[in-house]
Amino acid sequence: MSDCIFCAIVDGDIPGRIVHETEHTLAFLDANPLAPGHTLVVPKEHHARLDEVPADAAADLFAAVNDLVPRVESAVDADATNVGINDGPAAGQEVDHVHVHIVPRFEGDGGSPIHAVAGERPDLSDEELDDIEASISG
Ligand code: 5GP
Ligand code: ZN
Repeated sequence: MSDCIFCAIVDGDIPGRIVHETEHTLAFLDANPLAPGHTLVVPKEHHARLDEVPADAAADLFAAVNDLVPRVESAVDADATNVGINDGPAAGQEVDHVHVHIVPRFEGDGGSPIHAVAGERPDLSDEELDDIEASISG
């Protein structure tokens, strides 16, 4: 897409600190890192939402994440990692090109677990849980 910053990095039109590349996937350092080594992993083809990424590109994307997490941890001597996707604006997605965040974590870094991203916790009845289970499983 012409006005997409991540497409511009994929196309080499703007610089990126590229750390990994495959047929379908590119990984580069986040320009405003939450931690040293904060890496973004993107499908090369422009898709706004995760469910729009074709299966082969999605498999390549997550294989790259799997490969990169230990490499990033090792590069910055991290103790752990949060892996996350802001999938849609209501979830905090600002760049509308699918990207996986790899955020290295360090003992005592003052951050939070991924459980901190959502709003107030719902108090769901067994019936509501049954409905959700049935709806997702189809
Ligand atoms: P989102 O909020 O969409 O999940 O995250 C977008 C991420 O893209 C942010 O962490 C932001 O720092 C990063 N970002 C925005 N513009 C650029 C850019 O031009 N280059 C790189 N490398 N990262 C960017
Ligand atoms: Zn794009």
